[in-house]
Amino acid sequence: MPGPAIVCTNYYKIQTMREIKRIIVKSGKDQSLRRLHPWLFSGAIKKMSGTPRDGELVKVYDNKNEFLALGHYQIGSIAVRVISFSDFDPDENFWMEKIRSVYEYRKMLGFFDSEETSVFRFINAEGDGMPGLIADFYNGTLVVQFHSVGMYLIRDMLVEIFKRLLGDKLKAIYYKSGKTLPHKADIDHKDAWLFGEDNGRVVKEYGNSFKIDFEKGQKTGFFIDQRENRKLVEKYSKDKKVLNLFGYSGAFSVYAMRGGAEQVHTVDSSAIAIELAKENLELNFPGDKRHDAIVADAFNYLDSAGDKGYDLIILDPPAFAKHQNVLHKALQGYKRLNAKAFQCIRPGGILFTFSCSQAVSRENFKRSVFVAAANSGRSVRILYQLSQPVDHPVSIYHPEGEYLKGLVLYVE
Ligand code: SAH
Repeated sequence: MPGPAIVCTNYYKIQTMREIKRIIVKSGKDQSLRRLHPWLFSGAIKKMSGTPRDGELVKVYDNKNEFLALGHYQIGSIAVRVISFSDFDPDENFWMEKIRSVYEYRKMLGFFDSEETSVFRFINAEGDGMPGLIADFYNGTLVVQFHSVGMYLIRDMLVEIFKRLLGDKLKAIYYKSGKTLPHKADIDHKDAWLFGEDNGRVVKEYGNSFKIDFEKGQKTGFFIDQRENRKLVEKYSKDKKVLNLFGYSGAFSVYAMRGGAEQVHTVDSSAIAIELAKENLELNFPGDKRHDAIVADAFNYLDSAGDKGYDLIILDPPAFAKHQNVLHKALQGYKRLNAKAFQCIRPGGILFTFSCSQAVSRENFKRSVFVAAANSGRSVRILYQLSQPVDHPVSIYHPEGEYLKGLVLYVE
């Protein structure tokens, strides 16, 4: 692409003047990298040349000194996040081509020309070959979130590439990594506007409007990954009494309202979330009395929901398991939550139930829900098995990237 050269602090140039440190993998521990999986765990390391710093570029070799991968080093269980399986010294062009590829992919999917949707994920970390980097597009505002020090260190270069590639489609960039970078890395940073300024906060999703709180909102501001699943809720909401548990900013509720629900209740334990939900409902359905938003714990709420006669319930809890070591507890949590929903949903009701825990496999999630169903004695059919949308792609070499799992169940 023509245009001025990128003027920025090129961290890589500084680093490659010195020698790139080498990591040697223990014998037999090279298999996952040979299968193009993008992580090297610390336990697989035999030795390192020197002591790489957090975020430093490293090259990984097998026991016989054969090159395996190039990546960002970080102290922790995942020691290297791979950015390439080719042996070379990366420069701005390398990143430009990577980001051009995500841009072409989203363009091919129609995200940049859509009249009805202006919010989507632009870069999905491992799923787009860029471990540690998330970038969400909100109607011209790109919210960037770094999950690795290596990506954080090249932020200036990335910002310049975003500006150059997206041109006038890009109005502003907001940096939001306050909670996502490791504390131990001791990075002195604050969430801030890196480019442009606040460019409005209302985005469209399938024609519905949503106000986004970039600063205080969860994730990058919105749960973009539920777009298609919300559309499905709309389809089944006609004349239903809908309960949207863990409702956050009310997105599922807006779709239920548009689908012709008789009544919709949004429940979340966060008062900030419930305020946002009220605003979003008012934005789309001003003065509509069918909706109510309640600050409450979802588990407690379900205990007394039996007499309310809900016939469509959405369960979209936060990740119950962030690590494998709490897996058992998480599965118990899903079982308990779903059991309560099976107990109170009306005969002929529809349950939308989700897990966004990366550590919980689809099989494990299904088993928890099925045990809860069996214990309730209800007859249950599977209508749909859901996942994440196309702008949250999963790399075929990184199955862990499929974190969102959902079931739509018909409960007699
Ligand atoms: N369904 C939402 C996203 C849900 S995120 C959407 O489509 O936008 C999970 C939400 O659960 C968060 O808003 C969080 O505040 C809320 N939450 C966490 N624990 C809770 C609990 N015990 N009871 C109710 N809400 C809870």
